[in-house]
Amino acid sequence: MKVIPVVPRGYCHGVVRAIRTLERVLADPSFPRPIHLLGRIVHNEFVVDSFRQRGVLCWDEPGKTRLELLENIETGTVVITAHGVGNDVWDLIRQKKLISVDATCPDVYRTHELIKDRTTRGIKILYIGKKDHPETEGALSLSPLVCLVERGEEIPFLPEMSDPVCITNQTTLSIREIGPMIEALRSRYPQAEVADEICPATRSRQEALLAANRHAEACVVVGDPRSNNTASLARLSETESRIRTFRIASVADLRAEMFHGIGSVTVTSGASTPPEITQAVIAWLQAL
Ligand code: SF4
Repeated sequence: MKVIPVVPRGYCHGVVRAIRTLERVLADPSFPRPIHLLGRIVHNEFVVDSFRQRGVLCWDEPGKTRLELLENIETGTVVITAHGVGNDVWDLIRQKKLISVDATCPDVYRTHELIKDRTTRGIKILYIGKKDHPETEGALSLSPLVCLVERGEEIPFLPEMSDPVCITNQTTLSIREIGPMIEALRSRYPQAEVADEICPATRSRQEALLAANRHAEACVVVGDPRSNNTASLARLSETESRIRTFRIASVADLRAEMFHGIGSVTVTSGASTPPEITQAVIAWLQAL
């Protein structure tokens, strides 16, 4: 079977920066202990576990917001993940007099700045994103003028507005799915400003996958089940390339019978997947 590793794939600059930031805090004894991680440094169980084993307290409970998780923390250093947080979390950190280290990805930070700029001028934001994702949670908490739009079916039921509005989005959405959403919102609100904030790392990984899939019969997408950009890659492969797509967390999920009769396969990974995990998958497929 021909194995086609997609380039670029895997770690993006925001993830590398977040991991290095946490490494720096761990290595520096001047940061008060314990070190708390508010959420997952990236959406990858392997990476989170390795920090947990080195004494980092990783606060992550499904259904709980960053603000609720912060309620548990009274001492030490709080590290903010690449997904960023909103004003309410920063206010509580200050109120609790905690030391904080911000590992928010610069691309997420730029979206926050855009939202803050428009909302302080009274402009409503229509934010396309996934409801329970931490990046969306941070964006929504920036201002009550931010309104979440999750699916195209919601758009006809949105209120009439003739005031200025701005359409923007979560950074890791699918490049193919966001286009129709923006168009539907724009035809409902012709006065809207559009700020497509899909980050360059997400875009380049998705475009590279679509190009590589033209020469393949199947695709393997490696990443944590909770990673949104991994999910976007897998959906693109299934719905745009229309080839058999396997979404896996690691080499342990692979079985030889999955590839019976398949002559060529692409391999890509989400922006939070460690390179060694993808490399093990590529080696396994090549051996097959
Ligand atoms: S996927 Fe994009 S926004 Fe998210 S951490 Fe990476 S570079 Fe930043």
